Amino acid sequence: MQSHARAVVIGGGVVGVGTLYHLAKLGWTDSVLFERKELTSGSTWHAAGLLPLFNMSYSVGQMHKYSVGLYPSLEAETGLNVGFSRVTNIRLARTADRMDEYRYYAGVAETIGVKVDFLTPEQVKAIWPLCKVDDLIGAIQHPDDGYIQPADLTQALARGARARGATIHRNTTVTGITQLPSGEWRVETDRGAIVCEHVVSASGNFARRTGAMVGLDVPVIPVEHQYIVTEAHPAIQARKAAGLPEMGVLRESDAGYYMREEAGGLLLGPYEKGAPVCYVDGPDPQSEYELFQEELDRLAPHIEAAMIRVPAFGEVGVKKVYNGAIAYTPDGNPIVGPAWGLKNFWLNEGHSFGVTASGGAGWQLAHWIVEGEPTIDMLGVDPRRFGAYASRGYLRAKNEEAYAKVFTVHYPDEERTAARPLRRTPCYDRMKALGAVFGSVFGWERPNWFAPPGYALSETDLAKADVLLNENHPEPEAGEPIREKWSFRRPNSFEFVGAECRHVHEHVGLQDMSAFAKLEVSGRGAEAWLDALFTNRIPRQVGKVSLTYLLTAKGGVRAEFTVYREGPELFYLVSAGALERHDHDYLQKALPADGSVQLRPVTTQYGVLVLAGPRSRDVLSRLTDADLGDAAFPWLTGKTIDVGAAYAKALRVNFIGELGWELHHPIEMQTYIFDQAMAAGAAFDIKPFGIRAMDSLRLEKSYKLVGRELSIEYAALESGLGRFVALKKGDFLGRDALLAWREAGFANQAATLEVHGVRDADARGSEPIYLGEELVGRATSGGYGWRIGKSLALAMLRPDLTQVGTELEIVVLGERFRATVIPDSPFDPDNLALKGS
Ligand SMILES: Cc1cc2nc3c(=O)[nH]c(=O)nc-3n(C[C@H](O)[C@H](O)[C@H](O)COP(=O)(O)OP(=O)(O)OC[C@H]3O[C@@H](n4cnc5c(N)ncnc54)[C@H](O)[C@@H]3O)c2cc1C
Repeated sequence: MQSHARAVVIGGGVVGVGTLYHLAKLGWTDSVLFERKELTSGSTWHAAGLLPLFNMSYSVGQMHKYSVGLYPSLEAETGLNVGFSRVTNIRLARTADRMDEYRYYAGVAETIGVKVDFLTPEQVKAIWPLCKVDDLIGAIQHPDDGYIQPADLTQALARGARARGATIHRNTTVTGITQLPSGEWRVETDRGAIVCEHVVSASGNFARRTGAMVGLDVPVIPVEHQYIVTEAHPAIQARKAAGLPEMGVLRESDAGYYMREEAGGLLLGPYEKGAPVCYVDGPDPQSEYELFQEELDRLAPHIEAAMIRVPAFGEVGVKKVYNGAIAYTPDGNPIVGPAWGLKNFWLNEGHSFGVTASGGAGWQLAHWIVEGEPTIDMLGVDPRRFGAYASRGYLRAKNEEAYAKVFTVHYPDEERTAARPLRRTPCYDRMKALGAVFGSVFGWERPNWFAPPGYALSETDLAKADVLLNENHPEPEAGEPIREKWSFRRPNSFEFVGAECRHVHEHVGLQDMSAFAKLEVSGRGAEAWLDALFTNRIPRQVGKVSLTYLLTAKGGVRAEFTVYREGPELFYLVSAGALERHDHDYLQKALPADGSVQLRPVTTQYGVLVLAGPRSRDVLSRLTDADLGDAAFPWLTGKTIDVGAAYAKALRVNFIGELGWELHHPIEMQTYIFDQAMAAGAAFDIKPFGIRAMDSLRLEKSYKLVGRELSIEYAALESGLGRFVALKKGDFLGRDALLAWREAGFANQAATLEVHGVRDADARGSEPIYLGEELVGRATSGGYGWRIGKSLALAMLRPDLTQVGTELEIVVLGERFRATVIPDSPFDPDNLALKGS
């Protein structure tokens, strides 16, 4: 065995081999893969081989699209047939909500260039004559979709990698991994050791074991997944004999299964409730080509539904049942990208559609490793989207839930209930008593909106659609009324959120934003270090606050931070709660080696209560003797103030565009401060408000969010961050690349749109935008602006179309609406409310 390699990939399933192939393709031919048994002997061998393009996520959708484009080309390249049957894929709809889901998805697909057709029930019948269609309201079809032979695909990728010089060692188990003082990795195997620059963990069901070798608690635990293959059916054999095409992959989402032809019979794969996690602490060391005992009882409801839909399925016997492990993460998406806390250690794990994702995940991960960045926004699959809270017990509950919900309607406002409420701020019970309907971010409970006292959904609202697994309201805690009905259209919370927006605009509101990620940066080198990283000037004076961005080396936007200078050598950084591990990991890895800068994560030490609205000063001044006047305490400044007997870092900033303060306080003082604020606020009619109100209010200010308007795919200046990018301050990470990008010309420009004529649905983000028949952009966010009374969308458009007044069209749930470019910050463009008077 060679003693050195550029990269070592652990795992010879379709995902590991796909990674090796792409590393070699990008020129890292000196890469090595270790597989403990034979290639594909993990989950890959028993996969059903479907390649579903359907995915609501922008990043996963692009990965799948790439794979489906790559696989057919492999035969010409390697001489190996991968068994790709492009038979198309039909997803049926029985309910109006399901059709809305398809309409929304079709918009996402349009923006990433995936072909989707809508079918009538009659058209479904023509393609799938064995399928009953009388109760269907429609369907979608992916013409480019189909299935593949997973083992053949893996072998072709392996041959392609080897042909470029990469090496595969089968029957070689990685037993230990250590980082050397040089930063290189020493990978121990049962057949010798190898030193390399980069390690990629693609070990499937062994992910947690591999992670443990380097101290990572990898958020992957597999779930049992079964599919059934029937004996041949005469009707299918007759079709074959007549030379008719295969009927394609059929998905009855509302009954939670997929079906396709297999060797003259049928293959049925259900996603059932109650499928248990497996290999919780990893498979047996000897495990290979392993299947579990079949559990037909669990599948019964799906089998019955399938027999009604396709009676032929019930007319033949079962030939074989496969019950195998399928890797899962808490949200069902894989983890592809850098490991947190470790340099040059990469994860390509947690794949539940790994055959589909292998090509795209390998492609992007290889770019990330070789060039330092992926080429598409990978936030949706970034391993750092979970935190330390995602421990073993959490994963057991969440991964089973993610599996059971593969086919439920993926509502945009969906909040899943397993493993909750987990992380609660001290004011949780108080907010709950005030009617909070909670959502979850990074394990934290956060009020989404507030239902009026006694409000509950009516019997009609609660009537579930006639489907097996579809849920359109969350499961309540015991004894709690159900108050929320999700929808792709305006949900039942719409008017209540509107009332919150109006209230905070006219009076005063209180919001719990304790989930914010918080970090103290200190030391003699802190200022210079932050200055070299961030786009904006670092506040020179103690007490100043600035908004700033961390770019990629290519000039795209990686993260957003509020920087509060607390002392000459002390900075307090606030960023998005959901991105805590992501944001802090980049900073930690960029620390100077000389010890001149220290980082102290303080997220759980400080709670954050946002007091905002025109009467916020009146409320706060009753609790503090600090001078809150505009002269003494202007916008974009902060100071530690008394709040009754407690204290808080008060920052005069907020994300909603009203007069207000964020009170960052010791977490143990939260209920005290909360009670004081509510008592002092009673005279001013203080009311709580939630995240949904904040989202509407920020749209009216055209405030951008990482993962929406801001992404590594868009240059910071394309996203309209010019005010926060101090090009003249000197060098900072990504500056030169940003200038070069500007020189080459931008393909996009951020804009705010008013959407005209909407009735019951606003844009939400990912809708395609047209000029005539030409696709010219995509919405990144959308919603209703209550202060200005307009339906809004934030969008990335072709730059020549961003002049105010430009008339475009936006497709919301399949319908075209007129959309006009309006000036940014349509509410209070001069920031008069923020600046106060
Ligand atoms: C019943 C069933 C049906 C499925 N159907 C589909 C489908 O239709 N479409 C689809 O896209 N996906 C499907 N899947 C999912 C798919 O099988 C997986 O997502 C995919 O195979 C994952 O590939 P992988 O390479 O990540 O994992 P694996 O195939 O499990 O490969 C991991 C490899 O790593 C090796 N390894 C682990 N630890 C070490 C070590 N220390 N040293 C060396 N080697 C190590 C293992 O031996 C293993 O071979 C299905 C899964 C199941 C269970």
